[in-house]
Amino acid sequence: MTKGDIGTGHAPRHLPAEEHPALFEAAVRCSYNPVIITSADLAPPGPEILYVNPAFEAMTHYTASEVIGRSPRLLQGPESCRETLAALRRTLEAGERFEGTVVNYRRDGSPYHVEWSVSPIRDSSGAVTHFVSLQRDISDRLAAEEELKRLAITDRLTGLNNRLHFEEILEQELERHQCHGTVFSLALFDIDDFKAINDRYGHQTGDEVLRSLAGLLQNSTRAGDHLGRWGGEEFTLLLTGTGPTGAVETAEQLRRLVAEWQPGQLPPVTVSFGITGAASGDTIKKMLRRADLALYRAKERGKNRVEIQLRDSPS
Ligand code: GH3
Ligand code: MG
Ligand code: MG
Repeated sequence: MTKGDIGTGHAPRHLPAEEHPALFEAAVRCSYNPVIITSADLAPPGPEILYVNPAFEAMTHYTASEVIGRSPRLLQGPESCRETLAALRRTLEAGERFEGTVVNYRRDGSPYHVEWSVSPIRDSSGAVTHFVSLQRDISDRLAAEEELKRLAITDRLTGLNNRLHFEEILEQELERHQCHGTVFSLALFDIDDFKAINDRYGHQTGDEVLRSLAGLLQNSTRAGDHLGRWGGEEFTLLLTGTGPTGAVETAEQLRRLVAEWQPGQLPPVTVSFGITGAASGDTIKKMLRRADLALYRAKERGKNRVEIQLRDSPS
């Protein structure tokens, strides 16, 4: 043994050739991941399933006897990507190994995502006799990635878009306005005298007010509009397809809704709104500044009000 080799302490042992088939069959049968072996016919009607292992049965809920003799296409469904399947076909026609991810469907029609490889098996003359397909369920990994993405764009307390994500949405909407002339408005709004609520009822109640108010607003805004928590007790609303006059009307409705809201055990609250629309040569910074000026004015003029600021103020 040379320096660096990791020996087992046993003399090297080679598997006798006559034991190969049984051992390899057991290895495939016991594999944790689904294995499918098909014929190599690429001409229509295409390859036929010759073998599936128990892991395949467990994943798809098909029994081996139900799928043997059938086309592996039985795993495909509406969301299976046509381009991926076409790439699979081209790769196999070229006699190469295919790797990709695809949506497959179980016996009951439920989808699952797999990482997938299909390799040609060749005989001693080099001719392709079969394909072996190995799959690995990545549904959990994809769900975890989705959850991470969702967390990255969501405010933890209220479940609304967080500030960063709201800025992205606003940026995109402004771009659409500048390229395609779409209309939209921005509202910035803030709970009146929220500090007093915290001081009087405690921070936990304050949090509950923020959460409940977010729920109320979420249920009272249109599906295409975007709500965000800007920070603290300040929120944002992007109204798509609505000019400033419509936005003032919507904000008035929301202001009244909040003022008349009876949030169970929670103290009543009112909100003040600052509204602006998109102007030519606008940036999201300028829009936010105008909405903030309008909100400031609403506070100055007695709170529980809606104010609008359409032009940049000379700084
Ligand atoms: P105004 O009517 O002028 O808006 O007065 P206000 O009291 O609402 O505003 P101010 O900015 O003086 O106070 C806001 C308070 O909001 C202070 C801060 O402690 C509280 N706050 C910020 N974020 C949170 C939060 O996540 N939870 C709770 N409970 N309070 C928060
Ligand atoms: Mg406030
Ligand atoms: Mg505030």
